[in-house]
Amino acid sequence: MPELPEVETTRRGIAPHVTGQRVTDVVVRNKHLRWPIPKHLRDELVGQTIDSVERRAKYLLLKTPRGTAILHLGMSGSLRVVPRETPPGKFDHADIVLASGHALRLRDPRRFGALLWTRTDPHQHKLLKNIGPEPFDPSFNADYLFRASRRRARALRDFLLDSKTVAGVGNIYANEALFLAGIRPQRPAGRLTTSQAVKTVKAIRSVLNRAIQAGGTTLRDFQQATGEPGYFQFDLAVYGNPGKPCPVCKHPVKSLKLGQRSAFYCPSCQT
Ligand SMILES: [Zn+2]
Repeated sequence: MPELPEVETTRRGIAPHVTGQRVTDVVVRNKHLRWPIPKHLRDELVGQTIDSVERRAKYLLLKTPRGTAILHLGMSGSLRVVPRETPPGKFDHADIVLASGHALRLRDPRRFGALLWTRTDPHQHKLLKNIGPEPFDPSFNADYLFRASRRRARALRDFLLDSKTVAGVGNIYANEALFLAGIRPQRPAGRLTTSQAVKTVKAIRSVLNRAIQAGGTTLRDFQQATGEPGYFQFDLAVYGNPGKPCPVCKHPVKSLKLGQRSAFYCPSCQT
């Protein structure tokens, strides 16, 4: 599933090809994504120039003078820039065609993604307005995390997965960040100490940065006519590795069910 680093990598990959481009057509082959692609999208977007491509949590915002197209990659979505005449595949549900003769093509086999439109401030859109601070924003800091976690009994991993706490931290990166911070995922959020809050914020930024850096090597793939953009995977210390030796102390990594989703940790390095 595309997580924040993949979405940021996608943003960096497509931005040079779409920024400053006028939209000449919008082709919707299957509007049935998580929410239907709005009928009026074509009328709104054609003739507009894409001023910028921004990211908020796991949403991509294509900003134009008239309004903003809001994109989400869902469980399996990807975006590529292709020559417009490239024959679409079965899962290529929508194209935003550009004056350059290229199309920004949305592929989404499982159709949990979204392509929406708003004329007003996208940050006030119902999908975005309740999302917490961006992990790289100065407002996401140890003081904030410590205060927000007070009296919260839920597991720290789940507290970090909650988009109201911090934007776009999924299960992989929450587990990896807690390994780096030396804190067990099942620790109640309310028991986070101030020094652990410092470590947690630093660790979240570190794992996300590492993944974004790793994604940089795949940027050229965004303009390939065929295939997937090839989401990257850097070496994960604990996530998905139960029973394997911890990369630091060689203790076997443990897993446990927290809610519906597995958590992973080293019983020796994390307390
Ligand atoms: Zn260890």
